[in-house]
Amino acid sequence: MLHRIWGYTLGCRLNAYETEAILEEFRLRYGMERVSDPALATVILVNTCAVTGRSTARSRKAVRSLCRRTGAMVVVTGCVAQVIPEEFSENEVLLLPNTSKSILVDTVAESLGMEPGADREAPGMPDAIFPACAPEVMSRTRAFLKVQDGCDNRCSYCIVPSARGPSRSQPREIVLVHAARMAEAGFREILLTGVDLVGYGKDLYDGDYGLIDLVRDLLAIGGFRLRLSSMEPIGLKAEMLEGLAYPGVCRHLHIPVQSGSDRILDSMGRKYTAADIRVLFDTASKSFPGIGIGSDIIVGYPGETEEDFRMTLELVSHPAVAYLHVFPFSPRPGTPAASMKELMIHPETVTGRARKLRSLSLRKRKAFRESQLGAEATVLVESRIHEPTGRYIGMTDNYIPVISPVGSGEGEMVRMVLARDDICWDRR
Ligand code: SF4
Repeated sequence: MLHRIWGYTLGCRLNAYETEAILEEFRLRYGMERVSDPALATVILVNTCAVTGRSTARSRKAVRSLCRRTGAMVVVTGCVAQVIPEEFSENEVLLLPNTSKSILVDTVAESLGMEPGADREAPGMPDAIFPACAPEVMSRTRAFLKVQDGCDNRCSYCIVPSARGPSRSQPREIVLVHAARMAEAGFREILLTGVDLVGYGKDLYDGDYGLIDLVRDLLAIGGFRLRLSSMEPIGLKAEMLEGLAYPGVCRHLHIPVQSGSDRILDSMGRKYTAADIRVLFDTASKSFPGIGIGSDIIVGYPGETEEDFRMTLELVSHPAVAYLHVFPFSPRPGTPAASMKELMIHPETVTGRARKLRSLSLRKRKAFRESQLGAEATVLVESRIHEPTGRYIGMTDNYIPVISPVGSGEGEMVRMVLARDDICWDRR
């Protein structure tokens, strides 16, 4: 029987990367056909997310609905499967948590009664957390490259260390091979992903080789620009930002600061102060002129006062901050912050603060784009079409969506001087 597989991802880019890699492994090693409609699938993979109460609930609902609507075998993996597997107890699913991701494909195939699949394409994979197949296709123009997983920090609100384990890096040789393949396949942008990119290499190279070295070696391959995904400010030093400022690194960083109050940051276990973050923002602005920085903020962390919130507003008002992702505090089971019940903030207060921050984010996004009018940017032409003009949408290196110049083709890299009519103001 020819099996057909469909995948569904909740949560972060790392999860998206892993779903893609697992689906490709099913295709390459077991000859499964990938389909774009769950109704056509005989196997459905759901990669879940436990980072907030809402993402956990969405994971549970997705699994329940897919079990009801389809006759497929439903395989559930990811962070909810790892830390709160009982969420799926009412459904008949095959549960394979993050720690089983390396054997997921073979386990599913075995339970389907399939013959053993072809050997893994890339032998010697160091760890279960790095899937065997390079994730060549995440979009037609941009490839994702996972170089690290897990986290050694213990932020009081975060479930990720329980869900993904300690920090582990992909050896540089393997990263470089994957990147070279991506370049050969024609990708002009590679997005480096990891839970804690700043910690890249610490587990393998004892301080002799880190993120700056990796970025330098990747750029030496040539043919693409590099975008760095979220960079945790814990352990991020101004020198690292300066060292990363190679031509070829996008002028766009995502630095999740979470709060602007030192008291709250301390309670969160974040190991930096608002002043440290200002230094990082200033350094990034100098090292990458025209940079757009995104940030994550948690609102309504237990004990957050109006004054704490005011300090957060003040910190993220920095001109280099171009947008915010706002997360109302969500107690995650088993984390220290979940037990601070007596300090919980009234939900209406949390909603009000979240609204204020989201509205600030909209104003900042607009102001950042305004500030780039007349500036030159490198644009990667994507496959999406801007309906009113029929031209392709492109993304500048500092993360502004634009309408690509007439005549430019998908996957091309073009230089543009940004005019008001070029910018897709309503797009994120
Ligand atoms: S650094 Fe990030 S992933 Fe690690 S524990 Fe803190 S919030 Fe979670």
